[in-house]
Amino acid sequence: MNIDTSPIAAIATAPGRGGIGVVRASGKNLQGLVTALFGTTQLQPRHASYLPFRQADGSIIDQGIAIFFPGPHSYTGEDVLELQGHGGPIVLQLLLARVLEAGAELGLRLAEPGEFTRRAYLNDKLDLAQAEAVADLIDASTEAAAKSASQSLSGAFSKTVNALVDGVTGLRMLVEATLDFPEEEIDFLEKSDARGQLKAIVESLDQVFRQAAQGALLREGLNVVLVGQPNVGKSSLLNALAGNDVAIVTPIAGTTRDKVTETIQIEGIPLNIIDTAGIRTVDDSIDVVERIGIERTWAEVGKADVILHLLDADQGPTRADENIMAAFPPEVPVLRVWNKIDLSGHKPSVDEMADAVHVYLSAHENLGIDLLRAELLRIAGWQQTGESLYLARERHLIALKNAGAHLARAGEHAAQNDQSLDLFAEELRLAQAQLSSITGEFSSDDLLGVIFSRFCIGK
Ligand code: GDP
Ligand code: ZN
Repeated sequence: MNIDTSPIAAIATAPGRGGIGVVRASGKNLQGLVTALFGTTQLQPRHASYLPFRQADGSIIDQGIAIFFPGPHSYTGEDVLELQGHGGPIVLQLLLARVLEAGAELGLRLAEPGEFTRRAYLNDKLDLAQAEAVADLIDASTEAAAKSASQSLSGAFSKTVNALVDGVTGLRMLVEATLDFPEEEIDFLEKSDARGQLKAIVESLDQVFRQAAQGALLREGLNVVLVGQPNVGKSSLLNALAGNDVAIVTPIAGTTRDKVTETIQIEGIPLNIIDTAGIRTVDDSIDVVERIGIERTWAEVGKADVILHLLDADQGPTRADENIMAAFPPEVPVLRVWNKIDLSGHKPSVDEMADAVHVYLSAHENLGIDLLRAELLRIAGWQQTGESLYLARERHLIALKNAGAHLARAGEHAAQNDQSLDLFAEELRLAQAQLSSITGEFSSDDLLGVIFSRFCIGK
């Protein structure tokens, strides 16, 4: 990741054709670029001006809107120039090339992925959790995920985390002040109600972790492997599960497409369903190529959050089903779903048995589908609490968890009454550092590189 601060430019809109397309530039001082592009025409700050965009020789590339945002009142905190032209790939490439040429003397170069947002972060327009929410909002695969990302982007998550940091910092200052007066240490814990304060902080941390963990579900979803013999009703079940929501689901960014994956959602939680039609166990009768395919499928099964094994309630398990069941990795929970109960005469129900949870339903008659949905949500760990959720990332969850562990250790030192106040203070300091890493107060360049390089160019 480039950390030089020379001005940057990129096409900010998605590739392909669209009604409009935007070329965006950002830099400490872009007045020179404005002049190079538009001559003596002044651009009134933050006002749209309809103008011709010209090549150096005066010929017109396009006509469009130019908006100049002088820093610091801009997305990046620097001067930003936005040119909105027609959204065709060629016209935008020409416009970008022209902008780069016009800015050559200023050192204008092509932006790297996420560099606009990185500058917004470095110039304190956004904290790190908000910057991540920009990418999460753009990549959101369900409405609920988009809503939570937008919460985080508005700063609600950061505000909660900052309140925790403040709580820990306040307590830490108390403790450190006392460290200088050893004779008073013993009284300190009583007088300041340090234990009570710590307990309150731990309780809010638990709540934030819950909200973040639930939000993370909206982001990551549940990986479901669907196993079942031909004609058992796999497609019918997917349709029944998806209900009316199927239309607004898009595949999660980065999902590999080399296998049949369908994404549906239940209460806003994406379910990434991998259809392993025709999975079988390895025996001596198969050749090497087939064996590799089968082993790959089984590797997929081993990584799933849940195996959904669909069977025919009327016919019972086939020989192939029995072989496959024996081969399921023991660490992955199994839902054994008996379909076609309209033929078998079973009632829709859930039965917790030693080997697995069994669900009886009919995909075709839409019986018992809610029972299966509820089981899937239970396995996902979804609890509808009505709390607002934060579209947290794994990184945030780990930091919250680590902070919780340090606070727990701080609690142990406080409980021992063994005058280990310096250890108490040290654990508070470590908890604080973990929490601060979420909003990026003490972030390393490596972390920033990882986060921003996953953005698209132009963001
Ligand atoms: P797949 O090959 O596993 O994807 O199975 P399909 O979903 O294509 O279903 C195979 C056949 O079973 C179709 O004719 C469905 O209409 C039928 N089917 C699916 N679910 C049910 C059910 O609950 N009851 C009955 N009677 N038929 C079903
Ligand atoms: Zn993206």
